[in-house]
Amino acid sequence: MNEGRVSPDRSYALISRGQLARNYRAVKAAVGPDVEVLGVVKADAYGHGAVEVSRVLEAEGARWLAVSSVEEGVALRRAGVAARILVMAGFLPRERPALAEYRLTPVVHALADIAELEAPFHLKVDTGLTRLGARCGAAEILAALAAYPSAKLEGLMTHFASAADYNSLQTAHQVEAFRQLYEALRQAGRQPAVVHTSSTNAIAYPRRAAWYNMVRPGHALYGYVSPARGEAPHKVLDVKPVLTWKAKILAVKEVPEGTLIGYGATFRAPRPMRLGVLALGYGDGLPHRLSNKGRVIAGGKLVPIVGTVSMDLTTIDLTAAPVLAPGDEVTILGEEGEARQDAQQIARQAGTISYAVLCGISPRVRRVYVE
Ligand SMILES: *Cc1c(COP(=O)(O)O)cnc(C)c1O
Repeated sequence: MNEGRVSPDRSYALISRGQLARNYRAVKAAVGPDVEVLGVVKADAYGHGAVEVSRVLEAEGARWLAVSSVEEGVALRRAGVAARILVMAGFLPRERPALAEYRLTPVVHALADIAELEAPFHLKVDTGLTRLGARCGAAEILAALAAYPSAKLEGLMTHFASAADYNSLQTAHQVEAFRQLYEALRQAGRQPAVVHTSSTNAIAYPRRAAWYNMVRPGHALYGYVSPARGEAPHKVLDVKPVLTWKAKILAVKEVPEGTLIGYGATFRAPRPMRLGVLALGYGDGLPHRLSNKGRVIAGGKLVPIVGTVSMDLTTIDLTAAPVLAPGDEVTILGEEGEARQDAQQIARQAGTISYAVLCGISPRVRRVYVE
């Protein structure tokens, strides 16, 4: 069957393997040759496709990847991914056999869990984020390791709550708490082989004391670094978005002044308008909160969304882009001529974060991989 005929690609995402590789290299260059770069590919690689992304990162030399769940790790193994895979967000007792069968490396968040683990594991300690991670000191860790001589503590890690916020001392406190724990283990002869604490923000606004011998970027690989607060050091990372998001115009119509547009009649045309109806809605991941707020790039210009975003359709003002016709495309994320829009701009308009915009692009939006 000719797939092109069945699927008109109402909305699709172009994902640049080349830009992904360049972003990975940028992180490697920033941290230097002594620091391993683990690629975070959880949540289907922030919507970019975990299998494809993992393949690119492996081809770039990545020896470690990280996912959130056992299920995500199994999917990568079944697709032939050979790198070490760290499962960061916990596992259930019934998933233990799969950890072993698929050679996944669990992150342990409670010392009690190490009793039954055969394979090497990474221990996450809670230094202040207060999410997952063991709240324990070096003495308790050393006691647990002594009690279970078969336990293989390969890695030690923590996660920061506000690494881009230089108005706050929280990260400094977390860095110091972690350092003390690490030193105590080292002095007791229990130094783990892999030590890691830093995700994108702690790499980009360098907190070098927190890099140890591995870093864990996700957002940066996809081309994003959140803005810093306060007197942050100069950013050491230059990355660009990997994903471009497009949608087709299904219909164009001219309406007179006073026309009510969309569900709930939340928009009234203040003048005669030329409207475009896009093959895209919140069912594709366009945030509903962009109703009467967001913009898309049409004919090289940013034009407003008018009325409410509906499940499958969104209406835009095409008055400034009169040449566009049904079948033409607009850009939600990406560049056209002088105009550009990224997930951070959309997030600001929608009152959310760029991570959620990327993860929100639904499976209905076909991912197309390009160089
Ligand atoms: C998601 C996550 C990361 C990656 O964070 P980014 O901000 O996307 O770089 C790193 N470590 C842990 C534990 C995470 O949950």
